[in-house]
Amino acid sequence: MHATNTAPNVPLENFKRTKIIATVGPSTDSYELIEALIDAGANGIRLNFSHGTHAERTRQIKWIRRASQACGKPVAIIQDIQGPKIRLGDFDGFVTVAKGQSLSFAYQSDYAVSGHLPTQYDLSLKVKRGERIYLYDGKVKTIVSSVQGGVVHTRAENDGILIKRKGMNLPDTDFGGDIITPKDKADLVYGSSQDIDYIALSFVQTADDIASLRTILKSFNSSAKVISKIETKAAVENLEAIVAASDAVMIARGDLAVETPAESVPIVQRQIIGLGLRYGKPTIVATQMLASMTDMPEPTRAEVSDVATATILGADCVMLSDETANGKYPIEAVQTMKRIVLYTEAHRPVNVIFPGHEDHSRQGAISRAIIGLAENIAAKAIVAETKSGDTALQIAALRNNTPLIAVTSVARTAQQLAIVFGIKSYVRPVDKFAAKKLTNWLQLSKVLHKGDIVVTVSGKYPGVVGTTDTIKVRVLE
Ligand code: PGA
Ligand code: MN
Repeated sequence: MHATNTAPNVPLENFKRTKIIATVGPSTDSYELIEALIDAGANGIRLNFSHGTHAERTRQIKWIRRASQACGKPVAIIQDIQGPKIRLGDFDGFVTVAKGQSLSFAYQSDYAVSGHLPTQYDLSLKVKRGERIYLYDGKVKTIVSSVQGGVVHTRAENDGILIKRKGMNLPDTDFGGDIITPKDKADLVYGSSQDIDYIALSFVQTADDIASLRTILKSFNSSAKVISKIETKAAVENLEAIVAASDAVMIARGDLAVETPAESVPIVQRQIIGLGLRYGKPTIVATQMLASMTDMPEPTRAEVSDVATATILGADCVMLSDETANGKYPIEAVQTMKRIVLYTEAHRPVNVIFPGHEDHSRQGAISRAIIGLAENIAAKAIVAETKSGDTALQIAALRNNTPLIAVTSVARTAQQLAIVFGIKSYVRPVDKFAAKKLTNWLQLSKVLHKGDIVVTVSGKYPGVVGTTDTIKVRVLE
């Protein structure tokens, strides 16, 4: 177990509620750079399994845990598995495409010999006549005219060029519950031997896909939580069931803007964040948030506004991909994101109103009472004991103004809470007085002061899920 978070480094007044996830890649592939990302404000690190080798990942996971210790804060490690991301195979040079031209695709074929463009996946098993196949981030659009003998024949809808290994999107294709590929399975086997907090599942279509992943994870005894990446038309159609079945949700705008109209993505982003708040599931806004910082030291005005909007809407996390994986300014990108988040949080009304939400559960009532009490008596902090993290998640989903400090005996829980809105967590041994002791320690560490009011939340049975029953008000002496 990691004794994460020993240093209370940030005064409660300026701790960042909206969390940052950074993707590690060639630009950040060293202990020093990973520590710099975390030090600059990253709360979660994404490992994109579309790239890289297992040996590289093993090294990076060790670096992340060491850096998290060094920075004194829990960090969530996210294994992002590729899913049915289909790519063109290898061929020489580029292929020019003219509108109306026919283009054919076949699994691993040799273009020079057969004239069929190679694909890294046997599309002919899934696609049907009339469905769309988009290539190269939607730059070339085609429609399937027939599928014969393993070859997919299409007609191009526009002029363009194709380059080897560019991605393919199949917005109309139903994968029939078969979205976890053999590569993903191998990556999951590998991940089960590693210290991973979340699995991000790419190209989810229905809630059943999450159930399939959970079955696999269970067979490995994995305690990783599941993030569903919303990036298909089917996922948008099944949104509420997917949010309900997931532990967290990512608005994967890169592929989503190809698979559904780009102009629909901002609305879907709002719907997902709203559903996340309703179901108490953390939400992550991803892709191109500070895209220009891949090459430039400064973001565009539109990018600044994009990060601020996600913050205002109440997302739990904003994410960096290429910016930190392949960019020239990875640390600056995190610093910039943090500055935007902090400024926005300091100047917005933090409470998000979501009408029509009737929650009559005991836990829900307790959470609302805690927040109401804390706000009415101007408490400095809520200190909540939590084992699974559920108590903290419930309170955070109500977007409390009072900072929430979670104390847990489980390092995995602290790491998983690292990307949840408004929570600072500390790992401490199971103890009847864990919240009280942590409060005392925070006072000794000068995070809390004499005269501060603190609301502590605990249960009669420490360490037992769902037994929160005690709310105490303490005036520090
Ligand atoms: P990716 O997912 O970076 O793995 O493609 C995110 C997205 O599609 O936006
Ligand atoms: Mn994607």
